[in-house]
Amino acid sequence: MTDPEEIQAYLQMVDRGLESIPTYQPEEERHRIDLPELEIHLSRNKTIVQNFELYVSRLRREPKEVLSDLSRMIGFRLLIQQGSLILLTQIDELRVMQLIDEYVTIFVRCPTCEKLDTVLRREGSQRLLLCEVCGTESRIRLP
Ligand SMILES: [Zn+2]
Repeated sequence: MTDPEEIQAYLQMVDRGLESIPTYQPEEERHRIDLPELEIHLSRNKTIVQNFELYVSRLRREPKEVLSDLSRMIGFRLLIQQGSLILLTQIDELRVMQLIDEYVTIFVRCPTCEKLDTVLRREGSQRLLLCEVCGTESRIRLP
């Protein structure tokens, strides 16, 4: 293809082709489950995640189960009060977000397709993560 007119026609064809491709939105696709932003408040001796129960319900997890797993990860007791997660110490907002993120990585996100549409299943002392999107079954491994 050396004729400039031919090249022009080809480019126009490519342009039309691109226009007909729907806009690619990887972020939206990746987060089919719409997670609210964490509302974290620090008070003198507490850290409060206000919308904890809402957040956890979007992940389709039991708040109590999440609480005990988070406690194990962070090394001290946490509690839930009126839908909020209470940490009886002051922790940096960023650290709280990292903690929740770690939780999601270990207990929610499918290691294969990275979707959050998963369920936890117990098998003896083991817990398995089952992905409803790609069918991957993986063992939960605590760090
Ligand atoms: Zn998957």
